[in-house]
Amino acid sequence: MAQRFDVSDRFAAGAQYVAGKLAPGGSGRPHAVVDPATGERVYGYELAGAADVDRAVAAARRAFPGWAGATPAERSDAMHRWAARLRELTGELVHAESLQCGKPLKLSAGFDVPGSIDNVAFFAGAARQPAGVAAAEYSAEHTSYVRREPLGVVGSIAPWNYPLQMAAWKVLPAVAAGNTIVLKPSELTPFTALMFADAARAAGIPDGVVNVVTGDGPETGEALAGHPDVSMISFTGSTAVGQRVAQLAAAGVKRLHLELGGKAPFVVLDDADPEAAAHGAVAGALINSGQDCTAATRAYVQRPLYDAFVGAVADLMAGVRVGDPFADGTDLGPLISHAHRDRVAGFVDRARGYATVVTGGTAPGGDLAKGAYYLPTLVTGAPQDSEIVQREVFGPVLAVLPFDSDDEGIALANDTPYGLAASAWSRDVLRTGRAAREIRAGCVWINDHIPILSELPHGGYRASGYGKDMSVYSFEEYTQIKHVMTDITGAAGKPWHRTVFG
Ligand code: NAD
Repeated sequence: MAQRFDVSDRFAAGAQYVAGKLAPGGSGRPHAVVDPATGERVYGYELAGAADVDRAVAAARRAFPGWAGATPAERSDAMHRWAARLRELTGELVHAESLQCGKPLKLSAGFDVPGSIDNVAFFAGAARQPAGVAAAEYSAEHTSYVRREPLGVVGSIAPWNYPLQMAAWKVLPAVAAGNTIVLKPSELTPFTALMFADAARAAGIPDGVVNVVTGDGPETGEALAGHPDVSMISFTGSTAVGQRVAQLAAAGVKRLHLELGGKAPFVVLDDADPEAAAHGAVAGALINSGQDCTAATRAYVQRPLYDAFVGAVADLMAGVRVGDPFADGTDLGPLISHAHRDRVAGFVDRARGYATVVTGGTAPGGDLAKGAYYLPTLVTGAPQDSEIVQREVFGPVLAVLPFDSDDEGIALANDTPYGLAASAWSRDVLRTGRAAREIRAGCVWINDHIPILSELPHGGYRASGYGKDMSVYSFEEYTQIKHVMTDITGAAGKPWHRTVFG
């Protein structure tokens, strides 16, 4: 068993990061971070109150003119140093992420941390490409050019499932484009966001460019979303909270970026490689214990492959090693909290009334009984309109349903309010091409499910929100466009003046 990450001294000064320093919160409300694998408290801190948000926003405002005025090359150099500092911290980040989330070390080490560092390197490059339109004469009397400018202070609110990657996805494009930021991670998972911000300071990014306020949604989150000095809100989380954040942002006419929930379909056509599809479904459903907005949650399998697919998935799930995230060989760790585990169990327990739980459907006992664990679970026979097929469960639970024609498979895939991600499995390029075109989601994988890359956009359609993370599309969202039009004739009387006088 690997050593657990020791947080005792590291955040002794508090869990707020304002103007380059850790500080205590001032809400008067204490909060405990709990290791979900053991149920034990590992750290206590005071949540941020509205005054802490004010201080962080003020620090970001002070830092804005200097950071926005830096050249793209200066910002890029600082971000490359930031990536280097994070590489040095890799081991600590892996352990901190696994402690607060319950992720197996191999997931934090293979996905969360390297992906986040690659994001820093990508946006360090993107910082040097602030695309505008080159100067040009579009009228006989004027030269025009288009500037791409930062917005000011960005407020960002993030969930607990990938705390470091969410910090990276929100902070990096904002900062690369010359904005300053106040990030609110989930109060359940403060550690790696704080370490990420501190690594920016260590890399020479000026104090106040990256600030972190750690608190809950109703107090800290709402204070940030409604703050008059915040120009843009970028939010990742559930659809219901996203709607509330959108209302607060609308009152201040703030730029808004929303990455919301998902219910990704996994469509297996009858000429798919059955073994590849079964492996892809299990990995896609169980990644991060299913607490992934793009996780495969509902597999639609064309009738000829259905029985074999259900059998193969059940066998693979039974072989998944559920255990302590710090133990060698663990594939699947606990869920984020006992409360969330009970919510997931509630979906499955209610499903027993209308469907069949083929495998899993319970918490493990023995040594794991104290943690927030739940076994990989396969459900069949659930109707399309049942809650387990329609609602976001956010746990290691896969529902499998049969279909007959390609039309029906695509229609079922589109039949939830969400549209974040989907996959289609077939060896026929005409069938997969059609699925890619007709499935309404921000990402459609063909013969795979889950991979993401810093260069490529991630973001939803419909109730999964709007706004793109990663990629140059994200960078552009954190900028505003200004058209500068200059008269080049020097003439007092212009032809267009005659439409007004003379
Ligand atoms: P959540 O919506 O409960 O919380 C997200 C964040 O919003 C947290 O920081 C929380 O403290 C804050 N918050 C809660 N109430 C608030 C309020 N009234 N005002 C302002 N902020 C508030 O989500 P969660 O449980 O932390 O995360 C799981 C959800 O996140 C799932 O729905 C998942 O699909 C979604 N998610 C989406 C993506 C994506 O890229 N689309 C990525 C990861 C997670």
